[in-house]
Amino acid sequence: MAAKGRRPDYRSPEAAEYRKLYKTARWQHIRTAQLTDEPLCRMCRKEGRITAATVCDHIEQHKGDPIKFFAGPFQSLCKPHHDGAKQSEERTGKVKTTIGLDGWPIP
Ligand SMILES: [Zn+2]
Repeated sequence: MAAKGRRPDYRSPEAAEYRKLYKTARWQHIRTAQLTDEPLCRMCRKEGRITAATVCDHIEQHKGDPIKFFAGPFQSLCKPHHDGAKQSEERTGKVKTTIGLDGWPIP
C-alpha cells in the first residue's frame, strides 16, 4: 500500500492536546505579548543577525503540560530557527551546527 502524501505528525493524542493549547485565547495573548516584548529572533541575534521573530517558542519543552505551556519561559524566534535549529537541538540534545557572524556554518 502506497502512502499518500506526507502528513505532519499530528496523529498522537499528545499532539492533539498541544494543538488545543495553541488555539486558546490565553496562548494568543502570551504570544502577542512575547513578540511585542522581544520582536527579534533571539537565535539570529546570537549569530549577529537582525531578523523579525514570528514564533513564540517555549525555551523548555512543555510536553503538553498546560502549566508549563502557559508559564513559559518563552523566547522569540524566526520560523526557520524554530522549525530547524531548535527542533533538531531538542531531538538530538545538542546543537548540530554553529552559524558564524557571516551567516555560514562553522565546521
Ligand atoms: Zn532566527
